[in-house]
Amino acid sequence: MRCELCGRRAVARDAFGRALCKEHFLESVVGRAAKELEGVEGKLLLAVSGGKDSLVLMDIMAQIYDVGKLIAVTVVEGAPGGYRLKEAQRAKEFAEKLGIKHITVTFKDLYGKKLEEMVEAGRLSPCTYCGVYRRRALDVLALKFGARVVTGHTLDDEAHTALLNLLRGSWDDLLKINARVRIKPLRKVYEREVAIYAYLKRIPFQSEECPYIVTKPSLRGRLREELFEYEEEKPGALLRWRERFERLGAPEPKFKPCERCGFPTSPGRKICRACELAEEVGARVAQKPDI
Ligand SMILES: [Zn+2]
Ligand SMILES: [Zn+2]
Repeated sequence: MRCELCGRRAVARDAFGRALCKEHFLESVVGRAAKELEGVEGKLLLAVSGGKDSLVLMDIMAQIYDVGKLIAVTVVEGAPGGYRLKEAQRAKEFAEKLGIKHITVTFKDLYGKKLEEMVEAGRLSPCTYCGVYRRRALDVLALKFGARVVTGHTLDDEAHTALLNLLRGSWDDLLKINARVRIKPLRKVYEREVAIYAYLKRIPFQSEECPYIVTKPSLRGRLREELFEYEEEKPGALLRWRERFERLGAPEPKFKPCERCGFPTSPGRKICRACELAEEVGARVAQKPDI
């Protein structure tokens, strides 16, 4: 197989089905990410879990943005067994190698309780506390640093989220993936391409399984497999979906501030989900003016 652009040995196909050499493959991925950054300026807060996608995100951002304006953050939830500590360390080392400032914050610092304690005190699933408070951690830090949040969500992640929101029946949440509140440089890059990128650039990664994942595959996990097979049969299907879906536009933002913390909350709510859950598990949520 020869590279369609230069005739050298091809190593992989990109999202458009083109057989490409190493150099042109990397260029295809980085180019798509750079497009998402067009017109963006100022400080950026990179959410880095320490997993493969986040390391690739940092590697790409260091090539297309002023590293002096990047701050990478790893949020350590405090799940049982020291989960995420090794990944946070790996993220730090990798960020520093690229010249990106890296910080680690914990749920304990931010909310006075680690995830394990929240789960013990509450009656909802660990993923609920984890999801709400990870998002809030990023919002708090973005406000503190005057930065916009950048995440490593891939095209596959976006498709799974869209399907999950569709099944939940929330039109606003469904269209929210089209809103550009958060910057997602990998939103048109397949997870498969991220893996090839990491392999070609020898980015060391190892994923740790969340201790709360039960043996039964989550709906997201099942959708992931289905879509992976679908994509195998119809290469480029997700990318075409992403482009068509984009044309539906984003919902009008109709958030109002939470009466307790001042962060935006959904219509019809007086207090936000983070404040509501904090009351349930005895955690604390910082107020917006104090940050
Ligand atoms: Zn080439
Ligand atoms: Zn609140």
